[in-house]
Amino acid sequence: MRIIIMGPPGVGKGTEAELLIKHYNIPHISTGNIFRELFETELEIGKIAKSYINRGELVPDDITNEIVRERLNEKDVEKGFLFDGFPRNIDQAKAFDAILKEKNWKLDAVINIEGNEELIIKRLSGRRVCEKCGAIYHITNKKPKVEGICNVCGGKLIQRADDLEDTVRRRLRIYKDQTAPVIGYYLASGTIINVDGTRSIDDTHNDIMKVLGE
Ligand code: ADP
Ligand code: ZN
Repeated sequence: MRIIIMGPPGVGKGTEAELLIKHYNIPHISTGNIFRELFETELEIGKIAKSYINRGELVPDDITNEIVRERLNEKDVEKGFLFDGFPRNIDQAKAFDAILKEKNWKLDAVINIEGNEELIIKRLSGRRVCEKCGAIYHITNKKPKVEGICNVCGGKLIQRADDLEDTVRRRLRIYKDQTAPVIGYYLASGTIINVDGTRSIDDTHNDIMKVLGE
């Protein structure tokens, strides 16, 4: 399976992605997670990415596309993959097409999770993430067993700088201007699947499985 999962920030992409990769046993490639891992290193690219991300802006395409290209040269993607958070604009979608073409790979599905702004702001402001393994929680919708502690690895749960309300609003604006047009791009190739992301995690997951024919 080669899948892309799209949708506005905070619509539950990452959570749905975790369920899908378990089902298909494929790697989860989140460009946001890759950038956040780079924050922890001494690499210049990590510092550059952080400065964009904390402002709620997109990391420049040359950096992002190169990171994706490198990731797709690793062995584990041969059995398939799920991209989450990439492509985020038309130029990235074109660059991705070029890489796939080189490898003679085709996408099986582009899942577009739809949400509304009010819900997104509520979800993101309540979101907490494990600083160690990146697992996602929510202060009311997906509480950890022990407050402030990750169920999976025992790491500390933190709020991302870009989940502060003003930054969330900027991310939503950038989504509308730059990422939403990517839906039209994939619509033309017939790979888009629209799913309502305003319901529970499980309902959304079941819908996705149904349209994927599982
Ligand atoms: P969300 O989907 O909730 O916004 P992500 O973890 O996917 O969270 O992305 C967080 C941030 O990382 C984005 O706001 C952006 O700054 C940066 N980022 C992630 N993916 C890309 C990408 N494909 N192109 C440019 N920037 C990206
Ligand atoms: Zn963890």
